[in-house]
Amino acid sequence: MDRDELRQALGDRPDARMRASQLALHLYKRAEDDLSRLTDLPKSLRDELLERFRVQPLEIATHRTSSDAVDKLLVHGGDGEVFECVLLPYEDRISCCISSQVGCPMGCKFCATGLGGFDRNLEPGEIVGQYLLLQRLSPKRISHVVFMGMGEPLLNLRHVVKSLKLLQKEIGLSYRHITVSTVGLVPQIYELAKEKLPIQLALSLHSAIDEVRDSLMPVNHKWPVEEVMKAMRDYGAATGRKITLEYLLIKGITDTPAQARELARVAYGAPLVVNLIPFNWVDTEQGFARPENERVRAFRGILEAKGINVTQRIERGHDIAAACGQLAGQHRGRFARRQLSALRSAL
Ligand code: SAH
Ligand code: SF4
Repeated sequence: MDRDELRQALGDRPDARMRASQLALHLYKRAEDDLSRLTDLPKSLRDELLERFRVQPLEIATHRTSSDAVDKLLVHGGDGEVFECVLLPYEDRISCCISSQVGCPMGCKFCATGLGGFDRNLEPGEIVGQYLLLQRLSPKRISHVVFMGMGEPLLNLRHVVKSLKLLQKEIGLSYRHITVSTVGLVPQIYELAKEKLPIQLALSLHSAIDEVRDSLMPVNHKWPVEEVMKAMRDYGAATGRKITLEYLLIKGITDTPAQARELARVAYGAPLVVNLIPFNWVDTEQGFARPENERVRAFRGILEAKGINVTQRIERGHDIAAACGQLAGQHRGRFARRQLSALRSAL
């Protein structure tokens, strides 16, 4: 609920506006999760709120901390369907990575979440709830949010947009510090552009060659490279923001010199940055592997020689399976089940 909805929920009491502002301050700015501690509200109101509302819809199933100070939570909303969120402290900022769906229906072949199937969309309270849970763990304010946990945010566009507005208006984050990563759903990219929120949009491109992208990401059959790149360029033009292309380096498949040249060709000329992500090991049927550092350097070199802005993802939390879908996959035993069924069909 935003402040207006809080006010409406308080009914026609004369002090509804003031109480809604107090509530918003406690719940969002201070990440308070216990209504009985809000002693600047009258006791009768606290009791009424305690009876009618739930402040934190999420429960923690697992909490792991990595050797490099990454906290990963596996949470659920009471229905037993678990999803992940991660706290990422850097020297100059605190960031967090949150989920938009339980599982994901997009079926990308390299992704632990995609291989596990899809359960449901998350509610705005469950999306913002991840931020607030992580904020309670963090000694410093979380200033950056990336929608790179489980799920495809643009398949849950209404709830994601509502969450973006809550993060900005009530929690006080800058839209510029929020990144939404998408597999590339063209109509939804235009829908999101209409909202005119100056957030950072990142496209998971992963290959600029249609046949290869087709084989990795089923979405490419519907919206191939050229169409999705046009939508991204239009998005950048409509919002005035530089777009990001996420590029997954899978050894021998997406990290070849021919792939680099094609990527440089499609990226050329637009205000964008290419973010290279060496493949994080997931047990795939194709046996995908991570390229060695010198292959990554060579790939990067080809792009930079063509004048493309390149960054490389700083990876953290390897020892706690912090990458997309890995921890939830372990928890639900989906991979065990998948491997078992693969084994059965092979016999
Ligand atoms: N569904 C959205 C956002 C969640 S995935 C999307 O696909 O963009 C966040 C990022 O993690 C995406 O760029 C995705 O391609 C990447 N990713 C998925 N599996 C990965 C793996 N095994 N190694 C490295 N990155 C991976
Ligand atoms: Fe879904 Fe993103 Fe994983 Fe693809 S990479 S299956 S879109 S979460």
